Amino acid sequence: YHAEDNTISYTTLSRFPPVRLLPPSARKRILVTGGAGFVGSHLVDRLMILGHEVHVLDNFFTGSKTTVSHWVGHPNFELIRHDVIEPFMIECDQIYHLACPASPPHYQFNAVKTIKTSFMGTLNMLGLAKRTKARFLITSTSEVYGDPEVHPQPEDYWGHVNPIGPRACYDEGKRVAETLTYGFHRQDGVDVRVARIFNTYGPRMNPADGRVVSNFILQALRGEDMTVYGDGNQTRSFQYIHDLVDGLILLMNSNETRPVNIGTAEEFTVLDFAKLVRDVVAKVQAEDGIKPPKKVEIVHKPMPIDDPQKRRPDTTRAKETLDWQPRWPVAAGVEEMVRYYAAKLVEGSI
Ligand code: NAD
Ligand code: UDP
Repeated sequence: YHAEDNTISYTTLSRFPPVRLLPPSARKRILVTGGAGFVGSHLVDRLMILGHEVHVLDNFFTGSKTTVSHWVGHPNFELIRHDVIEPFMIECDQIYHLACPASPPHYQFNAVKTIKTSFMGTLNMLGLAKRTKARFLITSTSEVYGDPEVHPQPEDYWGHVNPIGPRACYDEGKRVAETLTYGFHRQDGVDVRVARIFNTYGPRMNPADGRVVSNFILQALRGEDMTVYGDGNQTRSFQYIHDLVDGLILLMNSNETRPVNIGTAEEFTVLDFAKLVRDVVAKVQAEDGIKPPKKVEIVHKPMPIDDPQKRRPDTTRAKETLDWQPRWPVAAGVEEMVRYYAAKLVEGSI
């Protein structure tokens, strides 16, 4: 950064994407737990491009080294295999604590481990924040509202969660993680930020992770039946990854210590969303001159237990305190993701 004429230089070390050259006083040491996952890897990209020093902790349960491999060897980047249920020590200025499986099949695969990750992992990272005086941001979730009786969901709604159902390991895990976060804030003065993230999609979602957007796109691209669970009248609001990353970085660098919903207000029934995905896939295939393998049908499968019936964020707080709002229309984001998966299918890597 050149203060005299207020310009920014970027450095290109040939094999890496260009990153901003920050003066040492502005460059932060940032720890991203779960940084090799879907959200984490996009956050890492943005923090690296902004010129910060980024350390990723991940046990690669649902994430993969390939999501951040383009940074390996860069002087500002470090990738560490570590399970957050074990303590970890590093000097840092900010901690983005993401480590936790996020898709229902993955977090239910080993429910006890999911609870340990949320509870012990968050305890360890808050302990680290306390020792190093780092600012701590946790990626909580709309799941803290459970199957909500208030619609849309504002941050002051306490939620409606089944504490013993199959989703409880994730929902209650995140709720206790929030409780711990505010415990350390009140008791020890840890500087905390809490993002309650609503359904987010985009490139690099693990194709096997079973969430609805990746399932629908891959099914439609492969010419398989699209699996709508239940009658498909349950609703979700889908936010594109770049909007989420904007929101996380704005929140981290704001003064807002209360929980903040980050999500989009455009609400779809799952059935309507399946039709939208099918249309976008057909459009992309037509533009690329690809003959679809077969006509894609929508089929219905049993509804999972405790599946929330309605979900849409009230994002007034994010607008007012962060001046944030999502910018990606759903069809545009889905098209990006369709093209990403289509390319991966052609190269045979998924
Ligand atoms: P993801 O599964 O792609 O990423 C999670 C990452 O955490 C993976 O890299 C995984 O290997 C790592 N991890 C899991 N357990 C760990 C452990 N014990 N120690 C170290 N690393 C561990 O999921 P995502 O969609 O990128 O979600 C990231 C965060 O955002 C999670 O905290 C999730 O709860 C939250 N979130 C995501 C969404 C969404 O729609 N994507 C919605 C709400 C909240
Ligand atoms: N869903 C679906 N078909 C799928 C996967 C999911 O109909 O192949 C539904 C699921 O029952 C839920 C919604 O889509 O109502 C979103 O599911 P996801 O697992 O993506 O996230 P959730 O919001 O449930 O955590």
